Amino acid sequence: MKLLLIEDEVSLSDALVNILKKEKYQVTAVYDGEEGLYYAVSNSYDLIILDIILPHLDGISILKEIRKQKIDTPVLMLTALAQEYDIVKGFDAGADDYLSKPFSTAELLARIKALLKRTGQYIYDETISFGNITLNLKSYMLSTPYNTIKVSAKECEILRFLISNPKFIATREDLINKVWGFDTEIESNSIEVFISFIRKKLIFIKANVAIVTIRGVGYRLEQKNVQ
Ligand code: CA
Repeated sequence: MKLLLIEDEVSLSDALVNILKKEKYQVTAVYDGEEGLYYAVSNSYDLIILDIILPHLDGISILKEIRKQKIDTPVLMLTALAQEYDIVKGFDAGADDYLSKPFSTAELLARIKALLKRTGQYIYDETISFGNITLNLKSYMLSTPYNTIKVSAKECEILRFLISNPKFIATREDLINKVWGFDTEIESNSIEVFISFIRKKLIFIKANVAIVTIRGVGYRLEQKNVQ
């Protein structure tokens, strides 16, 4: 799970990063509003923790811009006590939840977990399914009633993204951001290689789903017509 933390108080940010890393979250910490927006619109995070008062661009404006760009990443706002006015503005702008400072570690972790679960990002079920395929996210076993095969960690991530967003065209950029991480240099033809491995595995296990290439755009998982 990748989290983006936009908080300008360095000591608070450092403390949060430590807590979150202990919980096995990958955290990108940003201390400036404009930079925060740049990372947020990369759409490569599962959750954004957003402070309101920030240098260069405030949290409410960041949130409005993210939602305007149709990015639906859950956002947890951090507010100073008694900023009720900001809380209302935050919800109006598309925040999913908020925490008033100071808050306890337990409270923060519970809110994060609840938000990820609500948006289907949190893995509390070990398996996800589409058509006749089932993917086990812990053991990396991909199966149908006919056969089972092991996939690699990257193949598992690609499949998880496709299965979690059915009917949605995953662009090469989406896959690079979600699977390899924002700011990663990877050739887009290496994605093609991974996709072709997955396709072979789907055929091998007699899956009734296929990864369809949408030319010039990306990929989509589709269920084949069953006679
Ligand atoms: Ca602040």
